[in-house]
Amino acid sequence: MRAASALLPAIAAAALASTMLAQAPQDQAVSPRARQLHDRAIVVDSHDDTTQRMLFDKTFDITARHKDGHIDVPRMREGGLDALFFSIWVPSDVTGPPAVKRAFDLIDRVREAARLHPNDLLLATTAADVRRAAAEHKIAALMGMEGGHMIDDDLGLLRSYAALGVRYMTLTHFKNNNWADSSTDKAAHNGLTSLGKDVVREMNRLGMMVDISHVADKTFWDVIETTKAPVIASHSSVRSIANHPRNMTDDMMRALAKNGGVMMINYHAAFLSEEFRVASEKKSGTVVESMAAMSKKCGGNEACTTLESERIDHEAMARGELPKVYWDKIVEHIDHAVKVAGADHVGLGSDFDGATMPIGMEDASKLPKITDALLKKGYSDADVEKILGGNILRVMEAVERAAAAGGGRSSAR
Ligand SMILES: [Zn+2]
Repeated sequence: MRAASALLPAIAAAALASTMLAQAPQDQAVSPRARQLHDRAIVVDSHDDTTQRMLFDKTFDITARHKDGHIDVPRMREGGLDALFFSIWVPSDVTGPPAVKRAFDLIDRVREAARLHPNDLLLATTAADVRRAAAEHKIAALMGMEGGHMIDDDLGLLRSYAALGVRYMTLTHFKNNNWADSSTDKAAHNGLTSLGKDVVREMNRLGMMVDISHVADKTFWDVIETTKAPVIASHSSVRSIANHPRNMTDDMMRALAKNGGVMMINYHAAFLSEEFRVASEKKSGTVVESMAAMSKKCGGNEACTTLESERIDHEAMARGELPKVYWDKIVEHIDHAVKVAGADHVGLGSDFDGATMPIGMEDASKLPKITDALLKKGYSDADVEKILGGNILRVMEAVERAAAAGGGRSSAR
């Protein structure tokens, strides 16, 4: 290629340079140095909703390339994504035994995917498993449970989920449960109830990460006071940039850093951009309202709910009915979080297949752009590696160690 570029007439080179200047942010090329670093790093994404497709679409094959959605093995490999927490998510209005049944079905889908595709996926429950998967060129499949209502107020169920490999639990989803307040519901418990505190202590004992994404601010502070191990926000962005109650304030970010935890940045357009959030709430109500309406339209098929919501948002962006949100907004949130909490406490929690991705982050194959953008901002290789996955692996190890050290001390209930 060197000879050809030497022959390139000056005028063509100038034209090329001007096209590059005019490029929209979605087209930014990834430098070879960024690609190398990205491939060397263990890249971990702590929140992904592809599990809904695996449950509701019996023909969905995660090892085949798809035109829709954000995640499958070919696109994960292209994007250098080494480990993924599949979300075990059941909507907040499904409660009691039906929520428990659906949780077990979702867990089964993930475990079966790993069993059926042993050359591509490795079911992982520890940081060491994630590292082993990366060494074997497999993708580590992990599980996180999104919504404490799935334990049906029963610590025995929590233990069963842990035994099946669930390694974090987001204490609430959109609505309060019987023991914790959600950020998108009216306060009912003033944070965590005493059962809620027992849940946190039992998770510490079991080596399950406590996830404070979605919870009310008071619940967050109660968790910080109760937990004996570092906690995570599996998919939360920065509130001072996009004023959604589901995002984290700078104070919360500082407290999370002091706790030794990590905040994983969510890519959902309405959590990234204040302009988009305001416009979309005006157009179709809050995230909670619009998702409930779409779920109804989809007849409770939650794979349809998120795919359709994203399609409608993207059409509205294309028509100019909603402001365009570009992928570099993700980098702005990472950068703010790093400035406030430090590079040891920030990571990636995309919400792939569960949210509206910004333009330019259409699927997992686009992830190296984040590495490239962080290097261009002057981040060190070491800091980028931590953000890409090192930080969440450190927290997993710390939670595993805390469980081993304090095993059996928490009161059984
Ligand atoms: Zn969520």
